[in-house]
Amino acid sequence: MGKIHILDEHIANQIAAGEVVERPASVVKELVENSIDAGSTKIDVAVEEGGLRLIRVTDNGSGIEADDCEAAFFRHATSKLAVGKDLYQIRSLGFRGEALPSIAAVAKVECITASNTQGLGRKVVIEGGKVTAFDQTSASRGTDILVKDLFYNTPARLKYMKTIQTEFGHISDYMYRLALAHPNIAFSLSHNDNILLQTLGNGDLLQNIAAIYGTSMAKGMLPVKAESLDYTLEGYITKPEITRANRTSMSFIVNGRYIRNYALAQAILQAYHTLLPIHRFPLTVIHIGMDPSLVDVNVHPAKLEVRFSKEAELVQFLQQALSRILGKQVLIPEASKPSPKHNVIQEQLQLYATAALSPAPSSTSTPISSMPPSTMAPVISPRAVNEAKSSFNPFRDNSSWRERDIPQKEQQRDLGLTPQQMMEIYPQAEETKALPAFPKLYPIGQMRGTYIIAQNEEGLYLIDQHAAHERINYEKYYDLFGNPQEASQDLLVPMTLEFTPSDAETVRGRLPLFEQAGVYLEHFGGNTLIVRSYPHWFPKGEEKHIIEEMAEWIIREKKAVDVGKLREKSAILCSCKASIKANQSLTLPEIEALLERLARCKIPYTCPHGRPIVVSFTNYELEKMFKRVM
Ligand code: ADP
Ligand code: MG
Repeated sequence: MGKIHILDEHIANQIAAGEVVERPASVVKELVENSIDAGSTKIDVAVEEGGLRLIRVTDNGSGIEADDCEAAFFRHATSKLAVGKDLYQIRSLGFRGEALPSIAAVAKVECITASNTQGLGRKVVIEGGKVTAFDQTSASRGTDILVKDLFYNTPARLKYMKTIQTEFGHISDYMYRLALAHPNIAFSLSHNDNILLQTLGNGDLLQNIAAIYGTSMAKGMLPVKAESLDYTLEGYITKPEITRANRTSMSFIVNGRYIRNYALAQAILQAYHTLLPIHRFPLTVIHIGMDPSLVDVNVHPAKLEVRFSKEAELVQFLQQALSRILGKQVLIPEASKPSPKHNVIQEQLQLYATAALSPAPSSTSTPISSMPPSTMAPVISPRAVNEAKSSFNPFRDNSSWRERDIPQKEQQRDLGLTPQQMMEIYPQAEETKALPAFPKLYPIGQMRGTYIIAQNEEGLYLIDQHAAHERINYEKYYDLFGNPQEASQDLLVPMTLEFTPSDAETVRGRLPLFEQAGVYLEHFGGNTLIVRSYPHWFPKGEEKHIIEEMAEWIIREKKAVDVGKLREKSAILCSCKASIKANQSLTLPEIEALLERLARCKIPYTCPHGRPIVVSFTNYELEKMFKRVM
């Protein structure tokens, strides 16, 4: 007799549960997705002990018809697919018919559901994968599912559960994504009777972003709206000065389904290129709409990953759309808008509290370092005061230079934000004289040899002198690296570079690339290479470091390096080495010269590493701080 036999349904379901029900958050996800598919406008989730003791999802959707109540818990039973070709046109979140039987295989389930409004429903109780009760009951239209003692019969899985907080963390994270994906559904989430999320379901995505990430985040967001032949984009992204430490704050929703996708995340980071500090990420919520035939959702048991049939096209569309939006912003963060990152106000107030104790000289010609902060307020013109009183905000409302108006013609082009593309676009825009200039700033002084303090009619400005100088130098070197070979000079005494065997091998394979940066290397034998020549304008005394760092970068980045990126990287290396450091005192004429050169930069708002150069305090904000206006 043969040894092969068909597994009994309960074991098959337990096996499927291994994939579908990884942890309590998976149960929440599957149940809430069913509620969404049922057309609910209100979904309440109550959880106890991280979901291990109880998960209850109550909705006001279509309900399950009496005849279907038991079938819903059978394997591969679904109302969402009928024929094979439906699989290529999926509009619902579920379709595999696996969730309910899988959950019922590893927990005790109770389901009360009604598909009518007559107050009559059904109650099904399932334990150990078997229906133990099936009764009529009074119920309002919708479905109420209780999942108790998850993994009670699979101790191995239970052992892998983390702390209650961690498990609940996964649940709330998923609920956040669902709320971002469906702003027209009113969600609530509670844990051990504490309500942790409540959304109104009025369709306002920004309100949900505020409910989840806080209002100050939501206030710093830019709307996204774009459309191509195949795709629509809608959502919000943060201004570059508002960043987060975690890349998971980028959410993608494809046809109402929250998904994770590496290529799309890269497209976003590319759009913010050089505008973000390293290891910082934007907060983004992007809804992508497309014909279901363009996306395969059947590649992952939890359907968190999908496959796009034209991924490269979608990635490019997304990146260009975001670059265009970011390119329209003038990027001076307002110091008085504290964000988790730039908590300037708090520091300012502390500074004021200490300074108030010291006597106050009043002349503005006093070195700034010895001035109490109250004298830092710029001379305020009567006009500015009036405007401030009528809550005029020169940075937001009037947009004189805060909102950079890229000429219509330029808007229609693809404003990629790589420095190279910026360089190509901005000079043209400047020629048309349509770009409002960087504000004229009048220096007041320098603070701790690090920040330049300046003012104009609109308010007070702090400028990071190192970042400013780096930007100026970066743009200079970027131009020079456009044709570095011309400036390359032979060395009388060649310089030697030592590498590990594998690194030496890599460098030898990329000699033509070095030549593109004007650096001519030769193999000397063993793991040694010699530098024959490099451009004469490399910062003096730093030449060897620069070439070594260039090599290190090429080794590390491997094949990802191309001429454009090399030009950018080399310009950054040179600008870093050539720039004034913090703690260097500058004379007033030196400060003036620096500000003037900064104003002539193509992107005078962030250093090449993406850190801000200028932080501003508007007159109005200053007056508010001193309670001159309310
Ligand atoms: P799938 O969602 O892949 O179809 P499930 O096992 O999650 O499979 O659910 C099985 C079926 O039960 C669904 O197709 C649907 O008809 C019904 N169902 C489940 N949950 C609900 C709900 N909250 N409201 C209405 N119908 C539901
Ligand atoms: Mg389902």
